[in-house]
Amino acid sequence: MSLTNQDIVDLISFRRELHRFPEISNEEEATAKRVTNFLGETSPSMVLTGLGGHGVAMVYDGAEPGPTVLFRSELDALPIEELPDIPHRSSVPGKSHMCGHDGHTTILAALARQFGRRPPMRGRVVLMFQPAEETGDGAAGVVADPRYEQIRPDYAFSLHNLPGTPLGHVRLKPGVVNCASRGMRIVLDGKTAHSSMPETGTSPMLAVSRLMPALAKLGGGSFQDDDFAMVTVTHASMGEPVFGVAPGQATILATLRTRLDERMADLCASAETLVREAAEKDGLRHTIDYHEIFVASLNAPEAVEHLRTALEAEGISHDEEELPMRASEDFGLFGHTSKSAMFFLGAGVDSPSLHNPDYDFPDHLIAVGSRIFMRTARNLLG
Ligand SMILES: [Zn+2]
Ligand SMILES: [Zn+2]
Repeated sequence: MSLTNQDIVDLISFRRELHRFPEISNEEEATAKRVTNFLGETSPSMVLTGLGGHGVAMVYDGAEPGPTVLFRSELDALPIEELPDIPHRSSVPGKSHMCGHDGHTTILAALARQFGRRPPMRGRVVLMFQPAEETGDGAAGVVADPRYEQIRPDYAFSLHNLPGTPLGHVRLKPGVVNCASRGMRIVLDGKTAHSSMPETGTSPMLAVSRLMPALAKLGGGSFQDDDFAMVTVTHASMGEPVFGVAPGQATILATLRTRLDERMADLCASAETLVREAAEKDGLRHTIDYHEIFVASLNAPEAVEHLRTALEAEGISHDEEELPMRASEDFGLFGHTSKSAMFFLGAGVDSPSLHNPDYDFPDHLIAVGSRIFMRTARNLLG
């Protein structure tokens, strides 16, 4: 039994409700409640709330033993002011669902309705509504939660909508699909001085001016190659915006990006050495810390085959183009505890890009995405 016309109407209205009331990473309390309320009538066998923050897991058990299959969506929106040209525009100033996580969550809601009517024959389905994807905290929080043991999957699947690709067309491939990335924050500490006597202080000025291009130059290699690395300096500040004081402190932020986690470890070590040498040369103290850490997302070949079988059965066009992506995705962490795969679902060639202020998840994809997941689940669990 698939989705009814009434289901589609209800699901579109649920998606637009999520869109009107966005919450950013780690604040998704009301969104989690909307999910549990909307899905309450589907009689899940178990509901876990507060997973890794505001995460919700809905479990549908089969009558016979079998594998656990997890489907993941994200709850969080972004700190972006939406452009005011749609009826279901965000009602929260400065926040909006500009990554389509409202749509991904609705696709899982579509699965819940169908498993509510007919549970899997064997094993069990876990619908994982994960918090804080955009900051990279969410998957880590869920996996680190002691209750994750209760839902630890054998297979994990996820999707992300993909603007610039024909509507409903799928991109899928084994191996790396999203890069590893992390934010590096560097603080250089010296000593302020009167600007007429800079020689009595210790300014970070020269170190900052040397470090910025040196960090960027650590990147290199073709993106098609596992050796690929990229460093993007995203921010630099020094001293205060005044004329009377020579600066005593500076901060540099840079994003490090690689295809593989092993390469990331090398890149961090090289960047740390550069910073240490630059600081020592000018008698500065330095501290380095890391933020928004994403591991690489690797698709397991066996999990990819299950998705491909479902795509073929559903007659949905697919290829391996445009993968991997330079952007990061914290779903990669689920791959450390299961055979996992993520695919990308075309949001239309004319769609605004993700994180643009005029993006809106296409409602047409709710049915397409849920058909792919549903077929995958039924093939595995009956
Ligand atoms: Zn995003
Ligand atoms: Zn996203």
